[in-house]
Amino acid sequence: MIVRELIERLQELADAGRGDTEVMVVHQPRYPLQETVGGVWTPEDEPMGHCGECGRSLTEGECPECGWTPDDGKDDERFVYIVANGHHHAASPYGPRRAFDEVC
Ligand SMILES: [Zn+2]
Repeated sequence: MIVRELIERLQELADAGRGDTEVMVVHQPRYPLQETVGGVWTPEDEPMGHCGECGRSLTEGECPECGWTPDDGKDDERFVYIVANGHHHAASPYGPRRAFDEVC
């Protein structure tokens, strides 16, 4: 799913009166878990000078800790990430299994 498609799906929900409803992420179809959404993240927002793997501050090129190089992170720019932010304080950590059958 691309960003525009996600916007369309969310806009349909807002138009149907669900605009103030909290968004949850459900994952792991075989053992469904649900989490709150912390926000979105793109690799372009990555602070320069930090290892993309371990986060260590880098002054140049390859990370001495794990061998990551800035080139290793380039493929990630294909994606926009919705970042899960842990369990909802007032909800079960287990997600609805039928969400995976009925997703649209
Ligand atoms: Zn590293």
